[in-house]
Amino acid sequence: MVKTKIIFITGGVLSSLGKGVAAAAIGALLEARGLRVTFQKLDPYINVDPGTMNPFQHGEVYVTEDGAETDLDLGHYERYTTVTLGQENNFTSGRIYNNVITKERRGDYLGGTVQVIPHITDEIKEAILKVAPTVDVAIIEIGGTVGDIESLPFMEAIRQLKGDLGKENVCYIHLTLVPYIKTAGEVKTKPTQHSVKELRSIGIQPDILLCRTEKTLSKDIKAKIALFCNVGPEAVITARDVSNIYEIPLLFHEEGLDDRLVEVLNIWTRAPRLEHWQELAARIRSPKDRVEIGIVGKYVDLRESYKSLHEALVHGGLAHESQVALSYIDSERVEREGPEGLLGHLHGILVPGGFGVRGVEGKIQAIRYARENKVPYFGICFGMQLAVIEFARHVAGIPTATSEEFDQEAPDPVIYLMREWYDYRRDAIIHRDRETEKGGTMRLGAYPCVLKEGSLASQAYGSLEIMERHRHRYEFNNTYREGLKKAGLRISGTSPNGELVEIVEIQDHPWFLGCQFHPEFKSGPMRPHPLFRDYIGAALACKRGLEKERTLEL
Ligand code: GLN
Repeated sequence: MVKTKIIFITGGVLSSLGKGVAAAAIGALLEARGLRVTFQKLDPYINVDPGTMNPFQHGEVYVTEDGAETDLDLGHYERYTTVTLGQENNFTSGRIYNNVITKERRGDYLGGTVQVIPHITDEIKEAILKVAPTVDVAIIEIGGTVGDIESLPFMEAIRQLKGDLGKENVCYIHLTLVPYIKTAGEVKTKPTQHSVKELRSIGIQPDILLCRTEKTLSKDIKAKIALFCNVGPEAVITARDVSNIYEIPLLFHEEGLDDRLVEVLNIWTRAPRLEHWQELAARIRSPKDRVEIGIVGKYVDLRESYKSLHEALVHGGLAHESQVALSYIDSERVEREGPEGLLGHLHGILVPGGFGVRGVEGKIQAIRYARENKVPYFGICFGMQLAVIEFARHVAGIPTATSEEFDQEAPDPVIYLMREWYDYRRDAIIHRDRETEKGGTMRLGAYPCVLKEGSLASQAYGSLEIMERHRHRYEFNNTYREGLKKAGLRISGTSPNGELVEIVEIQDHPWFLGCQFHPEFKSGPMRPHPLFRDYIGAALACKRGLEKERTLEL
């Protein structure tokens, strides 16, 4: 029989304590011990998936290989480990209820009264047990904070699972806050005590407490927390604030977390091999160079909405032992103030994914600035589409070039809703028009792309066939393909049948590339994405060029 071992992670006191990163770091530690892991995020909100949620509120929508639109914590899980996640690794209350209601309508409950316990809780357990037996240890994170009304069914389901699976197969970790109070000059354990009390009132006794704190917790404080929360002092782990999130696996290890975990779950493993994490930490601590990259976008105030992008740029820097300083530039300011003042100091400009017309002209101005001033440019999804529009307008002589996303009656929609195309994922011809589009179907998930030899893209990947993840509605319009090519636009990546344009580049420029996919979803600190690596390489070269120019001027 397959033994299912599960670690459940709940959070207390307040949100944003970094539960997702903690879960990811635990996964990294277990992998370092030679265990196979997987993850699941259970989100208590009613939306069926985060695809329709405002990134301002909820942060980035993370897209998996199989095309699921998921919580951004899945991004942390994939970055810290070697797992590839999908649809089954993220469930919301909405999805759980949706399944139960569908079953009820179908008559599956044979006239029974359908209730939170046992029907909703059974559905939750079923979702958990679908992913857990495929690996040695499944790490299941419950969104929200203990005490929330909406997370109760999840809490009840995970409480039951300890009974179902046996004591040695379930470990509850509770992440809390131990605040340092300046006026008292000490850390306070009361919020943790209350949070654990709340957890115990719903029948869950935590096995391990992860205490988020500014200061390393003394033996006395650990003993106090242990006494009040009914755990051993060695089960109280300091989760100290760090300047770099990739040091967390090492910190947790120093605190003995992985030893505790294998003890609670009664697993025998080898000692963890953490050399690669140690090397990474050393590289992060002593960068040899630094570049300034400007991200020109709309959701500039909320870094969470560009989480994976931010991380991928950091990884690109790590490949060159360099630090990447990111400035987020509001595209509407570029519109108002012009690009020179805002972008003049940058070594690279990037326009990320986005939706809607607001701020678009500012982004186009930024792209033009990058093209004309030979500043390395990386356009991702929307940033690729806008680069095509910019090129059409200012190089290919199509001043009215635009996207159907902004103007459905546009005379020159160089980016448009493709009416008919072959979909590799579904192996079917897709027909779309504005009416069907209202349902909101996007091209989602990993699609194959064939690269042109000698292009920046093929140099970066070192191969001619790649798979990358998509999340968009609009596409490059092939009516304009020949004209734009003649004007100098290089189509360096397409779908295998040549129909969908996936990558564009321009020549006579140090590095200018736009891709229709989101490469940031596949980058990790141990495997910087080739496009981000080369883009940062180009930005470093740009910086050196500028420095040389300056010395010559002196
Ligand atoms: N808004 C564009 C589209 O739907 C780009 C989407 C994106 O950047 N993810 O095609």
